Amino acid sequence: MISPPQASRPRKIVIKGLPISTDIDEIKDDLTDQGYTVIKVAQLTKSKTKHKLPMFMVELTAKPDSPDIFKLKTCCHLMVKIDTFNRRPGITQCYNCNLFNHSSKYCHMRTRCLKCGQQHRTKDCEIKEKLEKPTCINCKEVGHLASSFNCPKYPQIKKKTEKAQNPNENKNTFPANKDAVKDFSYATALQGKNSTHNQTRNPIHSQLKIKITPTSLIPKTQMKGPLE
Ligand SMILES: [Zn+2]
Ligand SMILES: [Zn+2]
Ligand SMILES: [Zn+2]
Repeated sequence: MISPPQASRPRKIVIKGLPISTDIDEIKDDLTDQGYTVIKVAQLTKSKTKHKLPMFMVELTAKPDSPDIFKLKTCCHLMVKIDTFNRRPGITQCYNCNLFNHSSKYCHMRTRCLKCGQQHRTKDCEIKEKLEKPTCINCKEVGHLASSFNCPKYPQIKKKTEKAQNPNENKNTFPANKDAVKDFSYATALQGKNSTHNQTRNPIHSQLKIKITPTSLIPKTQMKGPLE
């Protein structure tokens, strides 16, 4: 993609804080009233489910006399937060082949143009204008480019708040804790015949993400012995 000079470059931002059902025309009108030159407003959707999100991407022209969009406090009479519209953080899309998770530096794939899918870089494409109904070269659907958030092939990033992604959570998970493993096998070894049974249970522990720490573990296994 050839980038126009900074001054006239359309800028994309995301407005957060508006209800999911907000009319995009209302946003556009309100921003225009506030002095912005709005090119387009679009509601963001989850890439896989296509469910709408309470986030609105606004594309605007940054004119010298227009106010700073990042200073916008309200939109449609509601307090809003402005965010930069970036590709999802942590996702690399190759400029050469437009596939994901590697950079063009190390790409050995065939060059594919985002716009037409032919064997040239997107910036070298004969099509200079923005396509109204592009065909995605990654999923073959019409209506978005392969660089779009909305492409079902666009990689998903799991939120850091999810349990599996939380490093602190994993620290206490049984298999990750070497000392716990050592203590556990020692304790089970003392129980003799039960040791094989308990060992097969280890993977289940890891799947269930049951927290077992050395301190909580030993009393439990020791208690188990006399009861049996
Ligand atoms: Zn590539
Ligand atoms: Zn092309
Ligand atoms: Zn696509």
